[in-house]
Amino acid sequence: MKIHLNQIPHDGLHLEGEEDCPIPELETEGNRCAGPLVYSLDLGISEGALWANGTLSLPVELRCVSCLEPFSYNIEVRSFAVHTELTGPELIDLTPFMREDILLNLPPYPHCDRQGGRKCKATIPTSEDPDGKRKPDWSPLDKLKL
Ligand SMILES: [Zn+2]
Repeated sequence: MKIHLNQIPHDGLHLEGEEDCPIPELETEGNRCAGPLVYSLDLGISEGALWANGTLSLPVELRCVSCLEPFSYNIEVRSFAVHTELTGPELIDLTPFMREDILLNLPPYPHCDRQGGRKCKATIPTSEDPDGKRKPDWSPLDKLKL
């Protein structure tokens, strides 16, 4: 998302819109963007710096680390904020700032039941048996009784 400084009036600028998925590298990890990035930003220039703040929202499809099933997740950045010195070019690209904030809000170990409304299949059978490994096996004894 590139903004030319000439586009920003003295009293600031409000921008709303959509951008293509800003994090294509997501695709390589079994996850993917499920829609465009939606942004709502206020921009302004003061004392030789560009500032911007607002909200970002990006629907993604992630793979649950427990049940390995894909599920929908919405990455919400509620307080996106940028303050960058205006040093050279008049065209400022906000995409790197957006990418950074979205990646920070991406859950490192996504669970499909994290946002509610869904129960992870992997947690249901293991809830009575948290270790998941030490189930006593009595079948050899049963054979002895025979
Ligand atoms: Zn799951």
